[in-house]
Parts: sequence; structure tokens; C-alpha cells
Amino acid sequence: MDLGIRGKRALVCAASKGLGKGCAASLAREGVELVITARGRDALEATAEEIREACGVKVAAVAGDITTPEGRAQALAACPAPDILVNNAGGPPPGDFRQWGREEWLKAIEANMLTPIELIKAVVDGMIARKFGRIVNITSSAVKAPIPELGLSNGARSGLTGFVAGLARRTVAHNVTINNLLPGRMWTDRLKSNAEYSARQQGKSLDEVKETMAKQIPAGRFGTPEEFGDYCAYLCSAQASYVTGQNLLIDGGNYPGTF
Ligand code: NAP
Repeated sequence: MDLGIRGKRALVCAASKGLGKGCAASLAREGVELVITARGRDALEATAEEIREACGVKVAAVAGDITTPEGRAQALAACPAPDILVNNAGGPPPGDFRQWGREEWLKAIEANMLTPIELIKAVVDGMIARKFGRIVNITSSAVKAPIPELGLSNGARSGLTGFVAGLARRTVAHNVTINNLLPGRMWTDRLKSNAEYSARQQGKSLDEVKETMAKQIPAGRFGTPEEFGDYCAYLCSAQASYVTGQNLLIDGGNYPGTF
């Protein structure tokens, strides 16, 4: 299936590793030109080069913290009029809510709610004017089924989800869709560090915790950044113009609800 987005421009945030990288690579395979961001320059440059070599598309790497005004300004300067925006940033740390003060909450809200809203605000009117736009926010299955130790994520991402639910219905008539992609358990550095936290809490080895976690997933395994990326690419396709305001799980059947 040709996704009909060859030659489009995408800004993919937090994309040197993990799910952001998966999205960037899948879009590049469809012929999309990329601007990718992350804080660490070396890994980001390496990813940009890997994608360029594999897909033969233009990939610009912009090193910076996307959760800061400076980081967003740099990313937008490199890609002022994207056709596709993939919002992503690191997730908040796990812990007990009794240990979190205002500063921890503001950091989580900044990264996982206000940063994507700021970036949407910066690009959505241009997309509307050009009559094409695809915005995908990487959130979490925690939006549908909260993860007890990830209270900061449960809370901050729910704020983004509520905002997007309203806006996505106002842009779709202009062929601009906004959707949230909800990862369940995808084996990346982020999940590894969460599993290490659980292992310490439970006094078990990382391998033991990893095996138990995988067995609990109906698919019997963790997801991969590649399959996550391909789902994202479909949401960014020309064909996906009638999908907006949705919260789409990619979790190997882990969410137990009927709907
Ligand atoms: P990951 O493998 O740790 O990769 C995170 C990527 O984001 C890296 O490229 C990292 O590079 C970049 N990054 C982090 N903070 C950034 C910032 N402030 N500015 C710019 N780039 C930043 O994580 P992941 O598993 O792909 O997770 C992506 C998102 O999905 C996170 O919000 C995570 O909480 C969420 N999520 C993941 C899972 C899962 O199972 N993996 C499940 C639910 C939700 P630098 O560190 O160099 O900046």
C-alpha cells in the first residue's frame, strides 16, 4: 500500500531512539523528508545517518530539549511548515505520589502536555491553510488504564488527551487529523528502566521481571519500535484522513476492556 505521503515533510520529536525513531524510520520508508530531534547529539546524528542511508531521504538532526522554548524554537526553525508532526518526549519517572512536589508535576506537565500543545499551536494553522496535516502524539496506554507507579504520566498525558479530543474535531474538515498513539509495553530503553525500577522494588533480577512482564501480555511478547512506527506512518497517510481524535492502543491486547 502506497501511503501517499512521498515528499511530505515531518517533524519527529525525541527520535534518536525507541518509539520516536521507529516513527521516523517508517515515515522515511514512505519517502517523507524528516527533521528529527533529541537532546544527545551523537545518537541523534547516528540515527539520522542510518535513516538517510536506508531510505535515501533528507534527514536533518536538531539537537535540543523539546520540552524547553529554545528546543522547540530550534526544531521549528528547521521545520517551520511540517505536513506531519509526531509529538514525543521522555516520560516522567515512576515513584510514589507522596514524593512528588509542585516541581515534579510541572516538569511532567511541561513535557507530556504543554510541549505537544505548543508544537500543535505552532503548526496547525499552516496545515489547515495547506489542506493537509497529520499530527500524532505518542502518549501511553496509561491514559486508558492507569499504571500505579506512573502517576505523573497518568495525570499529565490525560490533560493532553482531553485537549486533543476537542481540537481534533475542529481541524478534520481541513484534512488535518490529530490522533494519539498509546504504546503498551514496547521494549525500548524507557521500558527497560521501568523494569529495572520494578526489579529493585521487588528484589528480583531484571530478567525475571522482564519474563513475567512479557508473559502478562496476551501477545506473549513486548512490542517493537518498528511495528509502532508503521502504525504511526499509517495514521500519517493520505488514506487516514477520516481518523481523528482517536486514542489508539498498540499493546498486544494488554488492555482488558471490550472498548
Ligand atoms: P526511549 O527509548 O527512552 O527514547 C526516548 C527518546 O526521546 C530518545 O531519543 C531521547 O533522546 C529522546 N528524548 C527524551 N527526552 C527528550 C527531550 N526532553 N527532548 C528531546 N528528546 C528527548 O523511550 P521510548 O520507549 O521510545 O518512549 C517514548 C515515549 O513513549 C515516552 O514518553 C514514554 O514514556 C512513552 N511510553 C513508552 C512505553 C514503552 O513501552 N516503551 C510505554 C508507554 C509510554 P535523548 O535522551 O538524547 O534526548
